[in-house]
Amino acid sequence: LRRIALALVHYPVLDRARATVTTAITNLDLHDMSRSARTYGASELFVVHPVAAQRMLAERIREHWVMGSGRRRIPDRGDAMELVRVVPSLEDAYTCVAGDLARAGVELWTTAASARGEVTPFPIARERLATAGRPIVLVFGTGWGLADELVANADVRLEPIRARLDTRYNHLSVRAACAITLDRLFG
Ligand code: SAM
Repeated sequence: LRRIALALVHYPVLDRARATVTTAITNLDLHDMSRSARTYGASELFVVHPVAAQRMLAERIREHWVMGSGRRRIPDRGDAMELVRVVPSLEDAYTCVAGDLARAGVELWTTAASARGEVTPFPIARERLATAGRPIVLVFGTGWGLADELVANADVRLEPIRARLDTRYNHLSVRAACAITLDRLFG
C-alpha cells in the first residue's frame, strides 16, 4: 500500500458564511486523529496552522504526551502523538513528505461532507491505494470545511460519507469523519 500522511487544516477553511478563515486548534482533534492515524498506518498527522502561538500550543500538547509526564502515565498515547507534525502551511507538509518536489511530489486527496466537483468512490480509492504512485496527503478541514481552492486543486476528492438512511442530518465531527474515512480506505 502507498504511504499516506494525514493533514488537519486550520487555514484555509470556510466559516458558516463560506468566507475563508483560520480556526483554533482543538486538543481533542490531536488526540483522536493521531490515534486513528497510528491505528490505520498513516505516516504522519500534519497539524497545519499559520499562527505561531497556535503552533506552540499544539507542540506543547505533543511534547507532553511524547516526552513529558504524560508519556510515563499513558505510554500508548505518546506512540500516537509521535505522528503529529506541526507546520505553518500545507506546502510545508508537502515538502516534509516529498522534499523539493513539494506539491508535485504528492497526491492531494480531500474530504468534504458535500460533493464539490467530481468525487471518487471509496472502492476506487482503495484500488488506487494498492497501485504504485506518489505518496498521498489526505486532508481534513475544520470549521465549515476546506476552502474551495484546496478542493479544486485535489487529485482525488473522496466521496462524502453518508448514512444509508436519509436522516436529513450530516454533521460529523472531523474526528469521526477521519476515523470512518480511514476504516473505509484501510479497514
Ligand atoms: N460542511 C463541511 C464540509 O462540507 O466539509 C463540514 C466540516 S466538518 C465539521 C470538518 C471536516 O470533517 C471536513 O472538512 C471534512 O474533512 C470532515 N467531514 C465532515 N463530515 C464529513 C463527511 N460526511 N464526509 C467526509 N468528510 C467529512
